[in-house]
Amino acid sequence: MSDTTKTLCPYCGVGCGLEASPPAQPGKSINRDSIGTPIWKVMGDKAHPSSQGMVCVKGATISESLYKDRLMYPMVRDNLDQPFKRATWEEAYTRIVDRIETVLDTHGAEGICMYGSGQFQTEDYYAAQKLLKGCLGTNNFDANSRLCMSSAVSGYIQSFGADGPPCCYDDIEKTDFAFLIGTNTAECHPIIFNRLRKHHKKHDRVKMVVVDPRRTATAEAADIHLAITPGTDIDLLNGIAYLLLRAGKIDQQFIESCTSNFPAFTEVVQHYPPEIVASKCGISQADLEQTAKWWSTSQNILSFWSMGVNQSSEGTAKVRHIINLHLMTGQIGRPGAGPFSLTGQPNAMGGREAGGLAHILPGYRLVKNPAQRAEIEKLWNLPEGRIAPTSGKTAWEMITGLETGSVGLLWIAATNPAVSMPDLERTKAALLRSPFTIHQDAYYPTETAKYAHVLLPASQWSEKTGVMTNSERTITLCPAFRMPPGEAKADWEIFAEVGRRLGFKEQFWFQTSADVYAEFTKLSAGRPCDVTGLSHQFLKDNGPTQWPHPTGCKTQYGKRLYTDLQFNHPDKRAKFAACHSKGLAEPPDPDYPFVLTTGRLYGHWHTMSRTGRIPKIQQMHPDPFIEIHPRDAARLQIENGEMVEIRSRRGTGRFPALITAAINRGTVFVPMHWGELWAKDAEANLFTHDAACPDSLQPELKACAVQLVPVKSI
Ligand code: SF4
Repeated sequence: MSDTTKTLCPYCGVGCGLEASPPAQPGKSINRDSIGTPIWKVMGDKAHPSSQGMVCVKGATISESLYKDRLMYPMVRDNLDQPFKRATWEEAYTRIVDRIETVLDTHGAEGICMYGSGQFQTEDYYAAQKLLKGCLGTNNFDANSRLCMSSAVSGYIQSFGADGPPCCYDDIEKTDFAFLIGTNTAECHPIIFNRLRKHHKKHDRVKMVVVDPRRTATAEAADIHLAITPGTDIDLLNGIAYLLLRAGKIDQQFIESCTSNFPAFTEVVQHYPPEIVASKCGISQADLEQTAKWWSTSQNILSFWSMGVNQSSEGTAKVRHIINLHLMTGQIGRPGAGPFSLTGQPNAMGGREAGGLAHILPGYRLVKNPAQRAEIEKLWNLPEGRIAPTSGKTAWEMITGLETGSVGLLWIAATNPAVSMPDLERTKAALLRSPFTIHQDAYYPTETAKYAHVLLPASQWSEKTGVMTNSERTITLCPAFRMPPGEAKADWEIFAEVGRRLGFKEQFWFQTSADVYAEFTKLSAGRPCDVTGLSHQFLKDNGPTQWPHPTGCKTQYGKRLYTDLQFNHPDKRAKFAACHSKGLAEPPDPDYPFVLTTGRLYGHWHTMSRTGRIPKIQQMHPDPFIEIHPRDAARLQIENGEMVEIRSRRGTGRFPALITAAINRGTVFVPMHWGELWAKDAEANLFTHDAACPDSLQPELKACAVQLVPVKSI
């Protein structure tokens, strides 16, 4: 029998299947007290439908991240100026439960917050929702997905009446026109891009347009690169719509029978003629017109987007205006066509299913819906009215809650806000004021551990069993096949034990993660993400499976949503958005004349808790940098490699210059990965601000105004 384990890559939302084989030297497998051990061999799983055996450098090196700087035992301290001391789980649980009970007395349930992660497995998410939203009665659970894809969620909900990307990856090979906006897919979702690039190269008829202020590796591969001025996405999208309308290239029958609000949309669009749009976006009118022409003549159109659209103060409107183009041309509900958000994290989709944001409940229910709250209360056997009727604090509201004193306990799990939050100096100052912070993570040190009173060691990929859902709604079982180091435990186990100690023994009856998943699937009955036909055993026996998968469902993979053209609004129609472009929340001005945009690099992942500990990836991307256009650099007399001070209204940092024509004039770029542990004063979020989309509350991490000063002149 093979000792290879099939599992999933725990990095990005592509969700590539992996096969892990044990180290060559048997007998040296991991010992819980000593994590120096031969490294497991990891390869792509050819049978996985999403990735077909492909894997990028992150997936290929994942097992190298398991052995260094692991948090092995609970650690505690009374004050942040004290060193941590090792504690037993009993001591740690007692501290946490005592403090929760104190905060319930002093602040009420609203004083307790948990900030979780798209790195959670669905079981972790689900147990956390039950603890916070059900047992404690606060909706103050938010995840770092708030910073990642919450605009896609609110865009889908507003346009279609329910969340969920309607496409699947097999659409890539069926499309005739790929429209990529605000996504550097080649670096951030490389395996999807491999499939797309292959398809594009193979067929002359297939066209690709990339919209990005940077000439990224993705833009390099495109037929047209629309290097728009940051903040002009809605102008561009409305400009394409204008041209489609003017040419009469719309699907009138689809619009009439399947949509609403089209007249309001056309009223808005008439203000976006091509000459004005091209000038405002900083692109050629010919390229704009060619893009609209390809949109109007292609049989099947797929659009992709990720952070460049979502991380914006008008993120939801941008998402909806991408969807508008599909609605006006009937490009949805069939193979090769549809709007497709690319999720950043491996299980941000599972988080959406399990209710892992401050405004939702498990099974794509909303906290503001009384009937849906009552359903969950009943299923959780909790008193009527236990679940609070309003949204809880979002990620950023937890930070501002620390400033105002309304947060008495902050529990941070599998995420690193001391690097990833906007306006980082303000974030760090708020974390310093936290009366009690728990940081539950697989690694130590992290930048966030500095602000914790209790550290809890979490097991991670390969050490715990659970499921994850990728960007195309494919659910994969990720089994444990190694022992966790030291006394690390699965996140769901920790939440369940705290729940039991708070008196909720019945609610936390689970013995295994399969029990947790079984309960979650029951709650999904009749919901858009119905997975009542799934269980750990089913996924083990049948392999990766797409949702919806109700009991008795025969199809495992290759499903699309809305094939019957029935949407989830009460009138069963998809709704056009009708928004004008508002532009950036902080546009450049004479004092801060550059737009700084942030982004990801091929090898690194988020705040480098894993990839910073993998030598091959560190060698690939050793240091942060700032990309500056040659003409801007010449004007400021900056040489390549020279240190440049970046100043925004909130912070200052120093980066070596990378002078390149790949960035627009007037725009500069820094990667978002480095925190102070790896490169002091080179953190992208020193500069960013807290303005957020009013619908999704996702911060505008992609753009802020800065000035540049060569360090030699200071
Ligand atoms: Fe992992 Fe994403 Fe790379 Fe696939 S593309 S191997 S999921 S990081």
